[in-house]
Amino acid sequence: MGGFGSGQRWSKKDVVEGRHAIDTASLKRWNLLVPGTTGRPGAFEWRRGGEGTASSSVSYFLTVGPTEGTLRLLYTIKSLTAELDYPVRLVTTPCHLGGVRWWFVCPLVRGNIPCGRRVRRLYLSGRYFGCRHCHGLTYTSSQGSDCRVYAALRGGLDFGRFRDVRRMSVAQLGFALKVLTFEQRRLDRVDRRLDRAAGRRRSKAVNTAHRDDIPSDSTDTDP
Ligand SMILES: [Zn+2]
Repeated sequence: MGGFGSGQRWSKKDVVEGRHAIDTASLKRWNLLVPGTTGRPGAFEWRRGGEGTASSSVSYFLTVGPTEGTLRLLYTIKSLTAELDYPVRLVTTPCHLGGVRWWFVCPLVRGNIPCGRRVRRLYLSGRYFGCRHCHGLTYTSSQGSDCRVYAALRGGLDFGRFRDVRRMSVAQLGFALKVLTFEQRRLDRVDRRLDRAAGRRRSKAVNTAHRDDIPSDSTDTDP
């Protein structure tokens, strides 16, 4: 995703081709998720390597309340001669350390049943943006959200389920691997954080020792 425009960009020429994704993290990074925002226009743009101008774009109008919002998406898909214009709901959940986390509610409906999954990222496939699950996309990035992995981790992992590998289908094995990889990466992150904290404590201890124990005839110098 290459940025957002200042608005007034919506025209019939806005075109998206191929698979693109939009995520709430970008909206957050661009400081757009500000309660009180009403119908703010803008555009998601994608550039191919080195191109100055966007190769595709999706216009939007963003409305943000204290805990909910709406992102109205407008775009054209030339190859399908389709002009799309529909809203995507934004909702929040509280963060442990205060503040809120923003999510898209997947707008896709299949067999008259709305998906309604809460996701960080929506992918364009066919005509509509929808969640990874609805579009049947494979898991390619640990950064992306995967509702089932999060659900499995939230629900507490039953590793017993993963024990009898011979009885598991390929899909179950794939999912088990996904959950374990995700959990392993999380533990690695915790490890690194602890290492950094321990490093800080160590260096503090060294500094203190320097201050307290510098012999009067020492030629050592403090770093
Ligand atoms: Zn969905």
